[in-house]
Amino acid sequence: MTATMDAETTESFRSLNPATGELVGEHPVHGEEAVNAAIERARAASVWWAGLGWKERRIRLLNIKGALTRSLNRVASLIHQETGKPIEDAQLEVILAVTHLDWAARKAEKVLGPRGVFPGMLAINQKCVLEYQPLGVVGVIGPWNYPLFTPVGSIAYALAAGNAVVFKPSEYTPGVALLLAEIVAGVVPEQPVLQVVTGLGETGAALTRGAVDKIAFTGSTPTARKVMAACAERLTPIVAECGGKDAFIVDADADVDSAAEAALWGAMSNAGQTCIGVERVYVVDSVYETFVDRLAEQASALRPGEDRGASYGPITMPSQLGVIKRHIDEAVAQGGKAIVGGSASVKEPYVEPVILLDVPDDSSAVREETFGPTITVHRVKSVDEAIARANATEYGLAGTVFSNSKSAAMSAARRLRGGMTSINAVVAFAAVPALPFGGVGDSGFGRIHGADGLREFARAKAITRQRFSSVNLSSFKRTDKDMARALQLVNLLHAKRYK
Ligand code: NDP
Repeated sequence: MTATMDAETTESFRSLNPATGELVGEHPVHGEEAVNAAIERARAASVWWAGLGWKERRIRLLNIKGALTRSLNRVASLIHQETGKPIEDAQLEVILAVTHLDWAARKAEKVLGPRGVFPGMLAINQKCVLEYQPLGVVGVIGPWNYPLFTPVGSIAYALAAGNAVVFKPSEYTPGVALLLAEIVAGVVPEQPVLQVVTGLGETGAALTRGAVDKIAFTGSTPTARKVMAACAERLTPIVAECGGKDAFIVDADADVDSAAEAALWGAMSNAGQTCIGVERVYVVDSVYETFVDRLAEQASALRPGEDRGASYGPITMPSQLGVIKRHIDEAVAQGGKAIVGGSASVKEPYVEPVILLDVPDDSSAVREETFGPTITVHRVKSVDEAIARANATEYGLAGTVFSNSKSAAMSAARRLRGGMTSINAVVAFAAVPALPFGGVGDSGFGRIHGADGLREFARAKAITRQRFSSVNLSSFKRTDKDMARALQLVNLLHAKRYK
């Protein structure tokens, strides 16, 4: 597949190890023609793949999962090289991808397969079937921060629903995508059910203009706007998984040690380059000092680097270093206090941990996605105040609540604006394939993962079959008597008053 596409392109680009600057790979820049050719091949593959049926697809997908599991170290090593993240974090990413593939493979038929539906008394002579059919070709556009886990959140579910996929990975992580496609092709050699087109933003843009049946986009909010505008031309539907500014709330009765440990990991792991990473912490007054002490103490022990002992790796995308530095500088200039690190913590390609206190709510460090190992901590009078301030952002992806009261925690979790909330643990929902994942507002719309994630890549099909003739209201031969009987039945069923 790649050979055909390579023949259609002349330009290439390089992917580098962000920690060392070493060359990891060189790949073709696929233009409009190559992207459209991939879509065309995917169209034929989608028909074949859909025709395999639930059972055969399930076996293939479970075998893809098995092959990925057996290649875990090879895949993790490439993730490590292309993103710079510690090898164990890369292994964790493969583990998560494997669990999603497993779930999607096993549940697809149950969630999407044909089922009978009760027709209601007025249509009692109809046998009703609801089923979810594949869309055809799904274009997946992915980011670099979790180059396997994030796109697999769409690819596994799109394939399980019976679609073929054309995947445009980030220009920083094309190798991981190609390795995934190689693994899939090893299990499904007959047709290219997963193809990868490589290149820069323009390759992604070509995919959004192409004859695909849906775009599953994961990336920043500004790019999502461009993708949606391009898709409007063909009315191509999209699911948009965008950035976040997730809040972490600590209630007065919370286990403060556990909360500090979780907030720190949520904020600093993967160098803070996580869409559901913790960016803001709101702590109720009575435990604020203790929480800040614990957080600062643990943060001081963290160290970015490339070696096995490093807590996290470099900033993968060099341009992000400027954003992180600007957020820190503006926060401090506006009265914020850096109790761990500061502006000097930005040492290309690394950023050491930064903890900021007393940063005003209108500061860029509180409003915009920082995507670095920085955190702002805010003192609040109550959980209600924490929720109000946490929700005062255009983003709405996920959040965390630490509290020892089950009912208070559940109430706070429900009121936090966003698609997911984790109580007394951080980002726990991401490891549960049965749970849907997605945001509101600037964090996007639609859902990947779980049953909702499967339905995202299918269209509902309703079929009725008349089993016996009865009063026919949809006919010019309808009589006054037929209508009177229908009205009588409606009155009987629906005229009642409810208290
Ligand atoms: P970008 O928005 O820069 O890029 C995302 C993808 O879109 C890349 O493959 C990129 O290609 C491609 N792209 C760029 N321009 C266009 C275009 N005009 N049309 C179509 N595709 C285009 O995001 P990042 O890669 O920097 O990823 C980080 C962002 O992703 C953060 O905001 C993060 O929060 C978010 N994210 C959200 C997740 C979620 O599930 N909600 C999960 C993970 C990350 P190229 O790289 O070649 O420019």
